[in-house]
Amino acid sequence: MRRRSGHHVARRAEARPPAHHAAGNGVGEPAWAWDEPRWRAAVNKVRAGRSLKPACWKNGARACVALSFDSDHETSTLREGSTSPGRLAQGEYGARVGVPRILDLLRRHDLRASFFVPGVIARLHPDEQRRVVAEGHEIGMHGWIHEGTSELTESSERDLMRRAFDTLTKTTGRTPVGIRVPSWDFSATTLPLIRELGLSYDSSLMADDEPYELVGDGEPTGIVELPVEWIKDDAPYLGMNRATAIRPYTAPSAVGEIFRAEFEGALAEGGLFLLTMHPHIIGHRSRIAMLDELIRYMKGVPDVWFATHEEVARYCKAVAHDGPFV
Ligand SMILES: [Zn+2]
Repeated sequence: MRRRSGHHVARRAEARPPAHHAAGNGVGEPAWAWDEPRWRAAVNKVRAGRSLKPACWKNGARACVALSFDSDHETSTLREGSTSPGRLAQGEYGARVGVPRILDLLRRHDLRASFFVPGVIARLHPDEQRRVVAEGHEIGMHGWIHEGTSELTESSERDLMRRAFDTLTKTTGRTPVGIRVPSWDFSATTLPLIRELGLSYDSSLMADDEPYELVGDGEPTGIVELPVEWIKDDAPYLGMNRATAIRPYTAPSAVGEIFRAEFEGALAEGGLFLLTMHPHIIGHRSRIAMLDELIRYMKGVPDVWFATHEEVARYCKAVAHDGPFV
């Protein structure tokens, strides 16, 4: 039975959309049978609007580096409904070893970064979140328990987002201004909920290398998108799950080579290099050394602005000269 409110989470599959609904999760008629309004509405639900790539970055910098860490920790297991202590320990490493190592590294390089934290992780590790904020970093939203957003009804998605928002605010004393949807699983109702919460930016979509404005159902929203990509993420190269086919298949040095090439491309185009990492993955000795080397290299390049996602979104909004940002 589906419940609409409280702490009961209904699944979107139980609230099957009508056949013409653009937001469906693939149920119903096969795509080849859809009429034009249906596939067109699906594509227009959430769209990349105008580019928000600035002519130059803060203080005349020619490129921008935004480092982010998704502190999934134990929710990388809990999200599947698994309670295996063995698997939970793999995530616990992120809190116990990964985050302290990352914070030490950022402090040595005098850099600020963004940490995206599920509500359950803020409840399990409140001191970690307070330390992250105390050291000058940003904390953004990352779901409640790393749930699969597109499987939820709108009311459940709203309930979990509000709970996560309140939990982060209470834990850190700061109101989050940005979100990274867990697993980048952005649903057809995520954008209106982002607006309801008054957030400034999202960092979950992939329509560009550079920041852009999100357009919902044809309407510019004023929400900044700071795009991500699996190629600029540690997990696809280095993730490990014994029970599945997920295996580390790339050496840290090769991952560093890909990241560096992405940075050099951003530098050549005067753009944004946004990197997504996970404390329980990147926090291991051989990998943190690779990140240290990458940061050292990027810091050696003149006129590169290192910023949190919040700072990047704010800067892009401030330099946009027309439309809803004025
Ligand atoms: Zn995550």
